[in-house]
This record gives sequence, structure tokens and C-alpha cells, in this order.
Amino acid sequence: MATGKINVSVENIFPLIKKFLYSDHEIFLRELVSNGTDATLKLKHLISIGEAKVEYGNPIIEVKVDKEAKKIHIIDQGLGMTADEVEKYINQVAFSGAEEFLDKYKDSAKDSGIIGHFGLGFYSAFMVAEKVEIITKSYKDEPAAHWTCDGSPEFTLEPADKTSRGTEIILHIAEDSLEFLDDSKISGLLNKYNKFMPIPIKFGTRTETLPKPEDAPEDYVNETVETDNIINNPNPAWTKQPSELSDEDYKNFYRELYPMQFEDPLFHIHLNVDYPFNLTGILYFPKLGSDMQIQKDKIQLYQNQVYVTDNVEGIVPEFLTMLKGVIDSPDIPLNVSRSGLQADGAVKKISNYITRKVADKLKALFNENRADFEEKWNDIKIVLEYGMLSEEKFYEKAGAFVLYPTVDDKYFTLDELKEKLKENQTDKDGKLVVLYAGNKDAQHSYIEAAKEKGYEVLLLDSPIISHLIQKIENDNKDVTFVRVDSDHIDNLIKKEENTISKLSDDEKAALKTSLEAYIPKAYSVQLEAMDSQAAPFIITQPEFMRRMKEMSQTGGGGMFGMGNMPEMYNLVVNTNSDLASSILNTEDKTHQEHLVKQALDLAKLSQNLLKGEALTAFVKRSFEMIK
Ligand code: ADP
Repeated sequence: MATGKINVSVENIFPLIKKFLYSDHEIFLRELVSNGTDATLKLKHLISIGEAKVEYGNPIIEVKVDKEAKKIHIIDQGLGMTADEVEKYINQVAFSGAEEFLDKYKDSAKDSGIIGHFGLGFYSAFMVAEKVEIITKSYKDEPAAHWTCDGSPEFTLEPADKTSRGTEIILHIAEDSLEFLDDSKISGLLNKYNKFMPIPIKFGTRTETLPKPEDAPEDYVNETVETDNIINNPNPAWTKQPSELSDEDYKNFYRELYPMQFEDPLFHIHLNVDYPFNLTGILYFPKLGSDMQIQKDKIQLYQNQVYVTDNVEGIVPEFLTMLKGVIDSPDIPLNVSRSGLQADGAVKKISNYITRKVADKLKALFNENRADFEEKWNDIKIVLEYGMLSEEKFYEKAGAFVLYPTVDDKYFTLDELKEKLKENQTDKDGKLVVLYAGNKDAQHSYIEAAKEKGYEVLLLDSPIISHLIQKIENDNKDVTFVRVDSDHIDNLIKKEENTISKLSDDEKAALKTSLEAYIPKAYSVQLEAMDSQAAPFIITQPEFMRRMKEMSQTGGGGMFGMGNMPEMYNLVVNTNSDLASSILNTEDKTHQEHLVKQALDLAKLSQNLLKGEALTAFVKRSFEMIK
């Protein structure tokens, strides 16, 4: 038996490592199963180039838990190692790798993020084991070797009698890590990290019931057999070509990824690039609606089919983190902090590629089947609108597929909308007026008034819409967006005929005085000579102020300190209405006050502003009146 001392400068790096990646101890299993996978794939390669003249067979990796002896075995049928190779790869490579890792990262341990997912390779075994054995037999015609080490630099290396090719790692689980001897714990970890690894992984056995033979007698008892319990799918959908997959295959893979998701995704985007970086994956658009629910099923990041993390911040553009699916790329550096990741050129390219791919797919979907795209619009708009605001590159492409729905469920692109508005929706300056509502119920009377005049009214109800409108107006100097209740419709849109006022200037002045006597200061009173059919009193909320206020509430960064701005309303009174004449001509002051207050309350009611005590008083007063 040979004994020796591993040449590392830190006397005992074992406790250091244990402490360092405390929360990530569980990755030991991923690392060891990955090593077994690598060893198997390497052998396959050597055979294919004629370097190894052995039978490949159907190699698997087996994980076994021996609760009694407090051991975990990880057994592969890969290329194995000779004693010399153990000396070289384990004593030198693995240990110096661990030492280098520690040196580099122990100071940045606080800046965890993705760095915690960076593996320590073989050495991570010592995060859970007090002693590790390797029994390995190379594919070469050399005796098997048995290496033992307790994490200190001392090791033993002796011949072993293993005859089958491959490597068995035996972990003697430490007292503080006994939880890893639970079958459910191990199967949970295998399911998390190794679910899509390319070599079949066996964990335990399954009892399978054989089908009943046709000529079985009445009292036939079904036969059962024990089969290997393979926990992974070695050929997940993203590793295949899109041409090999049907829509159903994509949906099935979605279910495989998220077994607890019962709703089908709306559509998928297959990513596949090998230059200038390597990346594959499938992204899914889930049904989102306008409320962004807390997300638990996130995009998963893999490296060569090994799960790394579901925190893809910095890799996937932020607006797409609401999507689901997988990304697999060996080119994403995992040994850097979040900020380092964002500054990394390759990662920036990956993020841009994903943005472009998503935009292209959306454009194709729109062109291929517009009706279907319109149907899905409400479920995807929040992602797209957010993307337009946050990624200039996406914004530039979005014009081709972003839709503006009307309150009557018609859908226009911005260009189509402009064409439509040219007919009869321009303001005094010749700008196209985009009328929109934020809520069909709350702004019902205003929507109706606009529709009666033959105008199109959009329904824009996303929480971030005011930001987007602002941006669109900046880039399209020929359009202006106004919410239906932001002014009187006749003031918003230029009309050919000017309505003649029934009242003289003196009468108007007198009317204004009477109105202001009873109307709260919060309203500024505007007299307008309008169509006598138009509502006599209308409350409006100026577009600019309202929009600024909304923007500051939805993350405008405390824009102009408008978060605390009071609500501002206009009261537009139609001087041509019969009610205006009645108010003006009434001698009885009490009656005049009644008229004004009742009319104001009615206007408030249609703007959803009458609440609480005021509403109660209004209802009571109205009952009195009809008694
Ligand atoms: P890495 O896998 O990143 O190279 P590790 O510390 O995990 O680093 O392993 C060091 C080396 O030990 C590997 O490069 C490989 O040569 C060898 N090795 C580890 N596990 C196995 C195994 N199961 N079969 C064959 N060789 C192995």
C-alpha cells in the first residue's frame, strides 16, 4: 500500500470548504454524478475515434444509499482511472483545483448569486463526507486502484480487485450531514440537478406489473418484476432539432419541466445557436394576464444538461424572466458575481440573442396566424410592453407585432391605427388623437360618448401603460394619447362646425359665479358651448397630470415628486344644456344650490368619484326628490 501527502499549501482545506459553501452542500451529488457522466462520455468518444478498443454497451450511473453503514455510493461505467491517473487527476488536479477555487473566491463569498453554483468538482465530496474512497478500474489493461482520504492531505493508494470497468466513489457521510442518507433527500436532489443528464441514472428499483396473458385463468395473479429505477430523461427536448419535435412534444416537455403546472403554455421558442457562443434551450410563454403573479416556476439554467440554477438574472433580459423553460449553455461563466456577469461580453451577447429570437418568433406568429395572436394578446402583452420599455432593441422590432386593442375587441398595429385615425380623429394641431380607456366599467359613460361620435377607443389597461404611452408619443410626433375622461370629447377632437352659444358673455359670467358658489375648490369650472344633447356636467381629469401621477406610482423614480400630488379635476359645464339655463334663471337660491349639487353628484357618479358619506347623502336626497 502506498501512502502519501498531497501537495497543497493549505494544511487542511476541508473545514474551510465546508464552511464556505455552507448553503450549497447539496451540490456534491451533482458534481459526482457529473464526473461519472463525463467519464462515460469520454469513453464513448475514445471508442468512436478507435482509441479505446472496448465494448461501450449501455452504461448507466448508479447512486446507492447504505443507511446502516452511513455510506453513499456513486458508480459509473466510464473510462475509469489507473493508479497513476488517480495520483495525477485526484491528488493533483482535484485538490489543487479546490485550493485555487478557495483562494479566488473566499473573499467574494458574500456576493453569492451565481457564484455559489460554481462547483468544486470532486472535492465537494468532502462537504458531506468525513472519508472518501475511490475504487476505479481503467478501460486500459491495468489493475484497479483504491484510494482513501479523509480530507486531510494524507491519502492511501493500493491495488483493488475490481474487475468491471469504471469508478465507484464511496462517501462516508459525516455526522452533521446524515440527512443525505434519506432516500427522499437523494431522489429530490437527483430530480433537481440531474433530471436531464445525458447518461441514465439509476436510483433503486421499481416494481413493474406484467400484463395479464390472454389465456390467463380466472384466479390469475399478476406477475411483477423488479426493474432499474431510472430517474432522468437523457434526451430532453431542447437537445433535439426543432424539426424532430411536434407541438405536442413541446407541451409534454413543459409538463416534464413543471409537473405541477396544469395550464399549457401559449407558445414556445426553440433557441439554437453555436456561434459565436453555444446555447440551446426552449422558452415558453405562459398565460400571464395583467397581474404579475408571484413566480415559482422559473427559467432553468443548465450547462451540458446539468442543472445549475433557476436564477437567470443577468443572462436573460429582465422582461423575459417572466417566461418559463430552459437555457443550456456551457459559455456562461459561473465563477463570477452577478455584477461581473452583467459586464461580461459573452453574456451580453447571449442576452441580446435571446431578445432578438423572441422578437422574431413573435413577428412570425403574428404573420402566420393573426387571429390566434390577437386571441393571446391579453396574456402576453405585459411581457411585450415591459420589453418595449426596457430593451431598445426589442422596442425597435416591436412595431411589427405589438397590438392596440379597442374596447370592442378590434386589434390594430400602431401603423394601422394611424391610418384609421386619419379619417376623423385629429386635434386642433392636426395630431392624431388616440382615445383610450383604462377600465371599461369605470369610464363607461365617457367611452359611450366617444363611440356615439364614431371614434375608436382603445382599451389600454396594463399597469405600466402610462410609461409606454409616453415613449410612443416621444417617438411618434404625429400622435397624442388621451384618456376618454381627460377632457370633453368635443374639445379633444377638432370638429368642423362650431357650436353657437345660447348664452351671452354676461350670462356666462353670471352662471360661472353661481356655480362657483356651490362647487368645491378642488374643481376648476370650465364653461363650454356644446351640442345640447351632450351631458350638462362632466368631470374630467387632465391627461398630463393624471399620466404623470400614474407614472410616478408605477416606478417613475419619484418623478418630479408627483407621488404626493393631489388629484386634479375639471368640471366641464355645457352652457347650451337646459340645466345650465335653469341654474342661471332660478331666482330661488336654495333651489339653485340643489340643482348644482345634484348635477355635480351625478357627474361624480359617472366618474366613480362619489363614495362613502357623499354617496349615502346623494341616495337619500334622490329618494326625497322622487317621493
Ligand atoms: P473536473 O471534473 O472539473 O476536471 P474534478 O475535481 O471533478 O474536476 O475531477 C478531477 C479529475 O478527476 C477529472 O478531470 C477526471 O480526470 C478525474 N475524475 C473524477 N471523477 C472521475 C470518474 N468518475 N471517472 C474517471 N475520472 C474521474
